[in-house]
Amino acid sequence: MRLSELNTGERGVIVKVMGHGGFRKRIVEMGFIKGKVVEVLLNAPLKDPIKYKILGYEISLRRSEAEMIEIISEQEAEEQTGVSSHFHGSIKEERLLTEDELKNLALRKRRTINVALVGNPNCGKTSLFNLASGAHEHVGNYSGVTVDAKEGFFDFQGYRFKIVDLPGTYSLSAYTPEEIYVRQHIIEETPDIIINVVDASNLERNLYLTTQLIDMNVRMVIALNMYDELEASGNKLNYRLLSKLFGVPMVPTVCKKNLGIEHLFHLVINLYEGADFFGKNGEINKEVLKELQDWHRTNVNEAEHEEHMDDYVAPDNSRQKIYRHIHINHGPDIEKGIEYVKAEISKNEEIRHLYSTRYLSIKLLENDKSVEKVIHTLPNSIEIFAAKEKAARKIQVAMNEDSESAITNAKYGFITGALKETFIDNHLEKDQMTKVLDTIVTHKIWGYPIFFLFMWIMFQGTFSIGAYPMAGLEWLVDVLRHFVENTMTAGPLKDMIVDGIIGGVGGVIVFLPNILLLYFFISLMEDSGYMARAAFIMDKIMHKMGLHGKSFIPLVMGFGCNVPAILASRTIENRKSRLITILVNPLMSCSARLPIYLLLVGTFFPGKASLVLLSIYVTGILLAVLMARLFSKVLVKGEDTPFVMELPPYRMPTMKAITRHTWEKGQQYLRKMGGVIMIASIIIWYLGYYPNHNAYKTVAEQQENSYIGQIGKAIEPAIKPLGFDWKLGIGLVSGVGAKELVVSTLGVLYTNDAGVSKKSLAERIPITPLAAYSLMLFVLIYFPCIATLAAIKQESGSWKWAAFAALYTTSLAWIIAFSFYQIGNMLL
Ligand code: GDP
Ligand code: MG
Repeated sequence: MRLSELNTGERGVIVKVMGHGGFRKRIVEMGFIKGKVVEVLLNAPLKDPIKYKILGYEISLRRSEAEMIEIISEQEAEEQTGVSSHFHGSIKEERLLTEDELKNLALRKRRTINVALVGNPNCGKTSLFNLASGAHEHVGNYSGVTVDAKEGFFDFQGYRFKIVDLPGTYSLSAYTPEEIYVRQHIIEETPDIIINVVDASNLERNLYLTTQLIDMNVRMVIALNMYDELEASGNKLNYRLLSKLFGVPMVPTVCKKNLGIEHLFHLVINLYEGADFFGKNGEINKEVLKELQDWHRTNVNEAEHEEHMDDYVAPDNSRQKIYRHIHINHGPDIEKGIEYVKAEISKNEEIRHLYSTRYLSIKLLENDKSVEKVIHTLPNSIEIFAAKEKAARKIQVAMNEDSESAITNAKYGFITGALKETFIDNHLEKDQMTKVLDTIVTHKIWGYPIFFLFMWIMFQGTFSIGAYPMAGLEWLVDVLRHFVENTMTAGPLKDMIVDGIIGGVGGVIVFLPNILLLYFFISLMEDSGYMARAAFIMDKIMHKMGLHGKSFIPLVMGFGCNVPAILASRTIENRKSRLITILVNPLMSCSARLPIYLLLVGTFFPGKASLVLLSIYVTGILLAVLMARLFSKVLVKGEDTPFVMELPPYRMPTMKAITRHTWEKGQQYLRKMGGVIMIASIIIWYLGYYPNHNAYKTVAEQQENSYIGQIGKAIEPAIKPLGFDWKLGIGLVSGVGAKELVVSTLGVLYTNDAGVSKKSLAERIPITPLAAYSLMLFVLIYFPCIATLAAIKQESGSWKWAAFAALYTTSLAWIIAFSFYQIGNMLL
């Protein structure tokens, strides 16, 4: 519990002090040190400050400050130990909890460390998270795979870590949801330690975020990840010197090979336990040191740690100590401005526990919208803004640059300076490889044919290789069907299993190989780094559609199944682009619609089958473009966030990563089959089976009089102008559950019509080629299946958008099919 929650007269032991460095330092200097007993002298509700007694002194703390101190109260201790600390009038023998017992409990509670992973996209945060927590989160080489935070736990060297994988960000400005999210997490959740994961093969860009974290004055350790790539490149880094320059411990890690991770978390414990806890003369606090040494003796296998651990934990009397809070030096002009604004902000004691005032000042000079909101709540906000304007003007004059870009440039200047001292760039081939490859695949002209070649290989591979396992699965489903048919006794249950479940789910499961193959190719491109390039060259085109380069992957995935595709839209930072990507995704013809096309093209368009098929896919894409443009103009409000498309270096994808990645996407498809499609198949079967199943002579007659037959007939007037009869209507209605069901329903309806079984199913459908094409158009566009709607609801956050998607697609389908059929009829 928090210190602020203790009532007058109660005691507690301090577990830890949270918050940024400046605040912790002040509080600790007042004597609020871990393991110390605090007594509340006066805590009146609504009264600020609260009076405490600690180390024999009386001290007042603001309520908001006391909220940042975690304690264990006597009451909590009682509940945990069953030992009472008070004398009640009870007959049972009771005893007081000794102070030592309380302290031990506090220590136990203290042994949970909250760690947050912060870093650029693709620097290996999720890999580190997975390694540490043993979880299986998706690992991808595409920027921003992680949008929401994931939590995991693990135990190490006597401590329990709660670790949070935060979304990747390049900076801590307030431009993207990720950036805001990460900032909020740091301020509101106050992780004890931040692990700043840095891509060591891309130091300059990654350290930019580090400089901003330093501004926030958070306690952190840097994981110099991908150190293997740094070494392979032939470049040299003196990371210990760099650590010292930054005042932050840095540990080389290779998440792929599990190197350096233990060392990293070992340092986290040291830092957490106060290895940065210095007296005025730079010496480590004696008590802290003793505790650290005790812990080392009991929990750490010394043999596993390199000798240079002394750099971090030994009592520090050298001037080169690693733990220290530095200020990024922005140069005299900016620094003056920062100080000027800070002085005005610092008049407000009430926010100092949450924010470093230097940080607020820097952010104000960067015109940060979120921080402006914070400042607006302050009584002297007008003066602060005036000070900021004045400082910004001075900077503008002095540097001929607006304060925002001046600060950015200054930070890069800081990084460049630090790297110049510590980093030797040998410009080896590997770097050039990436550069050479990039000049080709992102070339203004050549980029596109290369891109289309890859797409072509992907789709060819998917469908031609996929045909074999598909045939195998079809055979298996058939075997199963025959088996059930021959073994079960006749009756509704058997019919339900054979026609409903096996017919419905079996018709879907045969697409699994196709979908897995498609996702395999996508994963391959993502993990190798090519997808980022594809997104990069598509970015311009996508922007014209009101989308973002990153919309591209979800759209391609839509050709497999819209459900995982819509879930994949999460990677798009901008809400507007994300929503539009989700809404147009159903227009990407998913593989479930393919059998309907295949059924029709062969029969109605002999010789031109593949051309016709292609035209359907292209129509879907064109409509998606049109609708996206329309939506971005009239429907979805919001700004386009300026966003840099990053190009991670090419990497050799590992089979393990790709398999896992493919599987994670495929899983969603399987879930859809086990859930929605199974239920929908049974419902459709039920509607087609009842009422009075046994009252009719032929199956067709029975179908005609079933519920679904009645629905089909009821909607016949609406679909007649499109060239469809009521049987097709039934097929379309059943497709609402899942598009795969259209063919199987038509199969049932048309099979027994003539009693002549020589004709193929398509030949038995009495429509013209014109109506057949109209039908394909309608199937392409109308109503996304139930599972897709559920995905839309989940990702957009409201049923409103799911309902909208259902409505607009169905109306659009009707309009297009209607126009096509009617105009076609007039022309032919
Ligand atoms: P995140 O975006 O920060 O979560 O990064 P990921 O954990 O998804 O990693 C991105 C890519 O980098 C994946 O393909 C990982 O396999 C790869 N990766 C992660 N750590 C290392 C490492 O230490 N060395 C190398 N060579 N690759 C790594
Ligand atoms: Mg990640």
